[in-house]
Amino acid sequence: MTAINPFESAMKQLEKAHTVLKASKKKLTNIDRKVAVLRVPQRQVNVTIPVVMDDGTQKIFEGYRVQFNNARGPYKGGIRYHHNVSLDEVKALSFWMAMKCAVADLPLGGGKGGIILDPKMLSQGELERVSRGYGNAIADFIGPDLDVPAPDVNTNGVIMGWMVDEFLKVQRKKAKAFGVTLSKKDERKLTSTFTGKAIKDGGSEGREEATGLGGLFVLQAILKRLKLKGTLTAAVQGFGNVGYNVAKFLDEAGIRVVAVSDSKGGIYVAEGINPALTLECKKKNGYLAGCYCSGSVCDLKKGKQVTNESLLELPVDILVPAALENALTRENAAKVKAKVVLEMANGPTTPEADTILYKKGIPVIPDILSNSGGVTVSAFEWEQNRKGQHWTKTQVNQKLAKKMADAAGAVWDASVTHKTDLRTAAFVVALERILTAMK
Ligand code: NAD
Repeated sequence: MTAINPFESAMKQLEKAHTVLKASKKKLTNIDRKVAVLRVPQRQVNVTIPVVMDDGTQKIFEGYRVQFNNARGPYKGGIRYHHNVSLDEVKALSFWMAMKCAVADLPLGGGKGGIILDPKMLSQGELERVSRGYGNAIADFIGPDLDVPAPDVNTNGVIMGWMVDEFLKVQRKKAKAFGVTLSKKDERKLTSTFTGKAIKDGGSEGREEATGLGGLFVLQAILKRLKLKGTLTAAVQGFGNVGYNVAKFLDEAGIRVVAVSDSKGGIYVAEGINPALTLECKKKNGYLAGCYCSGSVCDLKKGKQVTNESLLELPVDILVPAALENALTRENAAKVKAKVVLEMANGPTTPEADTILYKKGIPVIPDILSNSGGVTVSAFEWEQNRKGQHWTKTQVNQKLAKKMADAAGAVWDASVTHKTDLRTAAFVVALERILTAMK
C-alpha cells in the first residue's frame, strides 16, 4: 500500500470545491488567481530544537510551523507531537484550519505546528525542555494578532503553559532592549497568543471538551435534516481528548456507544460503554483491552476485543473516526456499514474513500465542520484574554451551540444548493468566505 499524502488529499478537496463554486451563479472576482494562492502556504517555518536529555546526551528535534492563509484573521491552529509528523502533514492541517475557521465563521486564518517526536519515549523533564525550545524557536513568528497556536495530538494545557512562559520571556527581552517594561495588560494580551491553556493560566471554561461537544451539536443538526431518529448506536476510533469527549457527549445524548479504540486496539460492548468508567479503567491499566465498562461496572463478560480495522466496519448507525488521518481509505471504505460518518479527527477519510462512501449513500459530516468546536472555543479564549474577561461554562457552551448550529445549517444549505456532498459543501462555504476576504 502506498503512503497517502494528506496535503495531496487536501488539494483534491480544494479543487473539487473550486469547480463547484466556479460552476455556480456566485459572482466572485479573480477566482482562479485566488485559488492558486490557496494552494501554497504563505509561510513555512522549520525549526531545530537542541535538547539535553536526562542521560546528559544531546538530541536535536525537528519541528515546523506552517502559516497557510490569514485573509480572514491571524493564523490559528494546534501543535502536534507525533513520530510521523511531516511538513506535508502540517501543511495539510494548516490548510484545513483555514477552511475550518471560515466554516465556523471565526475571524481567524489557518496555521499548524508539529514536532517529530514520540512523547511516550520522553521523560516529563525532556518533554518540558523540548516544548520550551519550540516555544522559543517560533516566538518571532507568533503573536495575538499574527499567529495563535493551541494543543493538538499529544499536546495539552500544561505544554501550552510552558510555551507561553517562553514566549513571554522572549517578548520581555525584546521590550527591555528598547528600554520598555511590559505592563500587566501587555502581558495579558500576549498570553492570548496561545489558546487551550489551563484555566489558571487564562484558559477558557469548556475548551477541553469543546471539540467533542461541538461534534455532538453538529451531529444533532445534521441528523435532524437527515431525519435519522430512534435509538442510535455509535463506534468511536481514538480515545484521546476528542474521542473520549465525543463518546461522553454521545452517551449523554442517548446515543449508545458500543465500541471505542486507541492505538493498541479496541473494545466492543453491545449494551454500550460507560465512557467515564472506561477512561478510568484505561488510565489504570494503561490500555483499553478488558475495559468493558457498562452501567456502573467493568466486567469481562460484558464485552470483547476488536481491532482498529474491524471497529470501522461495525454495523452501527454512526461511525466516528477520532484518531488520525487516513483511517478510511479505498481499501476499507466499501466495508463501512454505518449510516453516517462523523469525522472528528482531521483528514480521516481519503478522497477515494469519500467517493466510495458517497456512492454507498453514506453521508460524511466533514472534519472542517464536525471538529470545529475546538477552534471555536479557542477563539472564545482568545477573545476573553484580549478583553480581560472570563466567561462561565454555560455562556461558552451556549455560544458554541449557536456557532455549530449556524455552521451546520450553512453547510447543509450549500449541499442542497450545489447538489453536492457535505464535504464539498463545507469547502464551498469556506472558500467563498476566504475568497471574499482576499484582495
Ligand atoms: P489525543 O492525542 O488526545 O488522542 C489521540 C487518540 O488516538 C489516542 O487515544 C490514540 O491512542 C489514538 N490513536 C492513535 N492512532 C490510532 C489508530 N491507528 N487507531 C485508533 N486509535 C488511534 O489527540 P486528540 O486531541 O484527541 O486528537 C485526535 C484527532 O482530532 C486528531 O486528528 C486531531 O488533529 C483532531 N482534532 C483535535 C482537536 C482538539 O481540540 N484536541 C480539535 C480538532 C481536531
